[in-house]
Amino acid sequence: MAECDGKCESCPSNTSCSDTKKAIEMQNAKIRENMGKIKHKIAILSGKGGVGKSTVTVNLAATLSAMGKKVGILDGDIHGPNIPKMLGVEDIQPLADEKGIYPITTPEGIKTMSISYFLPNKDTPVIWRGPKISGAVRQFLSDVVWGELDYLLIDTPPGTGDIQITIMQSIPDIDGVIIVTTPEEVAVLDARKSVMMAKTTNIPIIGIIENMGGFVCPHCNKVVDIFGKGGGEKASKELGVEFLGRIPLDIKAREASDKGIPMVSLDCTATEEFKKIVEKIVKKIEDK
Ligand code: ADP
Repeated sequence: MAECDGKCESCPSNTSCSDTKKAIEMQNAKIRENMGKIKHKIAILSGKGGVGKSTVTVNLAATLSAMGKKVGILDGDIHGPNIPKMLGVEDIQPLADEKGIYPITTPEGIKTMSISYFLPNKDTPVIWRGPKISGAVRQFLSDVVWGELDYLLIDTPPGTGDIQITIMQSIPDIDGVIIVTTPEEVAVLDARKSVMMAKTTNIPIIGIIENMGGFVCPHCNKVVDIFGKGGGEKASKELGVEFLGRIPLDIKAREASDKGIPMVSLDCTATEEFKKIVEKIVKKIEDK
């Protein structure tokens, strides 16, 4: 057998090699090749759970898709994979061949991949530790046949842990992160940590989106600020990060999400807001 020259890509033993470092390098090469076909990669982060990060991801994707962009969503929330449910494509089995695993395409034309497609049923929990979770995310980057896309949005679990680090380290030319928060102080406190994580790892911050702002009471039409007001905007200013916009708390949004419909396809107040936010994102990224 020929001596190892460290060039795994051209090595005939690359599929049987037991050296972990080499296996990682091989996978990195596959990730670079796969991600190289995608023009823009954006991770969506939140410090706290339940602030609407997956909802925002789905609606950013649907707005981009309505603008004619080719879009994919990688559901990086391995413990709480909600993207297929929110897109109305949860009961579908992905196909695979020697090229890899094929993503599921929604009626809006959004390609998506999630761990939930590989679970025996909806109630099955993923009881995995960090390394296995990171391995699954890396496999979605290397082995899913995303094809040529304009945008890949990566939904992440809340916090600043394994998955966020894996995504930031594995995608060499990631465009940046968008941070979602609700306006109240506890959520903003955690969102600031996501901002600091991106700064520490030198990943560009595209901006902050404040979700669940004023709620319009359907009975009296008064705006009620259930989670307070302006916390995300205030933090943006203090941290020197662009404030991308504010999405109101809207019953229709939650109902749409439960039915697997992006809220932007309905006539709701958030539709226009999402358009403005996406225009800012596109301008910022494509004018770079
Ligand atoms: P996260 O990804 O941050 O955990 P989700 O996107 O799963 O949060 O949202 C949590 C719940 O809040 C979901 O039921 C979703 O439909 C609902 N939700 C999110 N944003 C809004 C909004 N702007 N108005 C009403 N409900 C919302």
